[in-house]
Amino acid sequence: MTGRRVLLIEDDADLAGLLDRVLTDEGYGVTRAGDGHTGLHLALTQPFEVMIVDRGLPAVEGLDLIARLRGRGVSTPILVLSALSRTEDRVDGLDAGAEDYLAKPFELNELLARLRALLRRHLDHAAQLNVPGGSLDIATRSVRRTGGEAVELSEREAALLGLLAARPGVVFSRGELLDLVFDDAESETVVDTYVHYCRRKLGRGVISTVRGLGYRLGSS
Ligand code: CA
Repeated sequence: MTGRRVLLIEDDADLAGLLDRVLTDEGYGVTRAGDGHTGLHLALTQPFEVMIVDRGLPAVEGLDLIARLRGRGVSTPILVLSALSRTEDRVDGLDAGAEDYLAKPFELNELLARLRALLRRHLDHAAQLNVPGGSLDIATRSVRRTGGEAVELSEREAALLGLLAARPGVVFSRGELLDLVFDDAESETVVDTYVHYCRRKLGRGVISTVRGLGYRLGSS
């Protein structure tokens, strides 16, 4: 896997460009959005390990965006950037569901240190993901069934199920799953094949088919 994927939602093009370069130099894979609407769409449809969200954004304001993401079950850690630095402003940001809040102007080294801290804390949480009938351990690529039995998954089975389990309720199209999990494959039928493998090992209900749209984590 390449570097940690960070979603940068910032409408100030100069600052976004600077942060993109610095983060890329640090080994992050950076995806940029210049408004809240685009950022929301990306955050709901693609996996990121961490997000940086400017508070003052066009289309969908930063704290509103964060509240909407949390309402949809997206638990990716978020660092808010804001020109507002009073205590009440920080409290607003944390109440909206952000993990950390950094007032502009800030030192780049402090931003990088805070991102590392967020990732460390989150990875401890993210090691286990709930799936129907048990929990998926990302590190060992195994599912611990509710009864105690462990089921081993292949790397791709675990990547597919892990992506769906990290966004319960979100429907991914076959094309999105092909891009995100099977980036060296050409045909969307490979997605169907691995859904079949996961179901064979873990039961049909582990992944739901949403007719005409794609797949999501099973709801049982
Ligand atoms: Ca702004």
